[in-house]
Amino acid sequence: MEPLRLFPQPVTPQASSTASRSGKSYLIWTIGCQMNEAESAKVEAMLSQVGYARTEVEEEADVIVLNSCVVRQAAEDKVAGKIGSLMRTKRNNPDVRIALTGCMVTGQEKSLRQRFPHIDLFFEPSEFDRLVEIVPELAGADGDLAELPHYYQPLSSDYRVTAHVPIIYGCNFVCSYCIVPYRRGREVSRPFDEIVAEVTKLGSSGVKEVTLLGQTVNAYGHDLPDGRDLADLLTAVNSVPGIERVRFLTSHPKYFSDKLIHAIADLPALCEHVNLPVQAGDNEVLRKMRRTYTHEHYRDRIEMIRNTIPNVTLATDIIVGFPGESDEQFENTLRLLEDIEFDKVHVAMYSPRPGTLSARWEDEIPHSVKHARHQAVERIQERVSLQKHQARVGQREEILVDGFAKGRWRGRTRGNALVFFDATGDWLGQTVNVEITEASTWYLLAEPVAIMATAF
Ligand code: SAH
Ligand code: SF4
Repeated sequence: MEPLRLFPQPVTPQASSTASRSGKSYLIWTIGCQMNEAESAKVEAMLSQVGYARTEVEEEADVIVLNSCVVRQAAEDKVAGKIGSLMRTKRNNPDVRIALTGCMVTGQEKSLRQRFPHIDLFFEPSEFDRLVEIVPELAGADGDLAELPHYYQPLSSDYRVTAHVPIIYGCNFVCSYCIVPYRRGREVSRPFDEIVAEVTKLGSSGVKEVTLLGQTVNAYGHDLPDGRDLADLLTAVNSVPGIERVRFLTSHPKYFSDKLIHAIADLPALCEHVNLPVQAGDNEVLRKMRRTYTHEHYRDRIEMIRNTIPNVTLATDIIVGFPGESDEQFENTLRLLEDIEFDKVHVAMYSPRPGTLSARWEDEIPHSVKHARHQAVERIQERVSLQKHQARVGQREEILVDGFAKGRWRGRTRGNALVFFDATGDWLGQTVNVEITEASTWYLLAEPVAIMATAF
């Protein structure tokens, strides 16, 4: 067996050479979903490839890229605030080049140009080639930058243990509240072999865990001619050298097939964790949301998942205060949460989005009611999450260490629970057997039992 390699890639020494190659630097600001994070990582990979160094200081940056989200009003407001604050930066340094990308941009370029004249470039998600308009060095770059994997890391000082890989763009559903289909278009699956090649590059550069991404990730392949689907892709990615863990986000209940459930159960690298947004537990609300399933169908999928995948953990998304949602309908959502007992729930207050169907309806729920419902969901979930965490104290878990924060090592269990532990030495990227010592609602504390040597 090969000796355990802590750092498959050289780490810090090369980082300074990045800065010295052009002396230029970039700042990137990202908000929103994992897809945005992945696309920002691609921008970073491209800029570092042509010698730009990352900075967190606006005044130092030659290029600033903002990656935006408009899924809820609060996110859009944050983006607008950020853009506004850059007016002063641009006034003080007219040479700085500022770009805006993400869901705020799609189809809105003309009005945005008028609203924000200090922004030099607007480019739609994935239109990476257009960066050349403000980064001329990209024109003379060696090789095909479009083929860079997300999280390309030969020159990075941050050794990346986990990476996101988009596998399908867009969404063919038309949930009545959701702006995503308008901003991300219809589903387009990336070619199967291209994804496997990207994951292979990531595996050989030291990445240990990949999360395959899509707004409706389990619609993967429906538009491809060869009939291969997400379960087939997971089977291929499962055997990529170096990749110890595979996750995928976000699934739609309509397409959560038995085949997919068996793939998670059978493939060793597939983590026993399912993120399956339900949004509401009431059939009339689900119908008005145009989710295309009933709560009975959802419960059936959860039962099949739990019966097939031992120790599986579950996460979901909930929207409270959807137009016209009555107290009784909301209680059906609470009942579903009590019955299923998710490990994690992301809850959002309904936010009307311009252009969507439900934004035209007049039975908007008052903010105070939305807020009270939000708290009711959180109260239940905090209790459930704490109980589930407490039940793990004294148990052993396998965690993958992905960072060091506030003096402690940080990792995740295969079930996606956040775990911290104290230890000297360098544990980044290692798979560690730990014993859980303490539980809180949001995370676990642990002690390492033994380092599980991983040959690759
Ligand atoms: N494709 C995924 C989710 C995409 S959007 C799915 O089908 O579930 C991410 C989350 O944002 C959603 O799960 C939903 O809970 C929330 N969301 C989307 N639109 C929203 C809106 N108008 N108001 C409040 N929350 C919203
Ligand atoms: Fe939006 Fe529905 Fe598509 Fe999810 S499935 S991205 S909520 S339209």
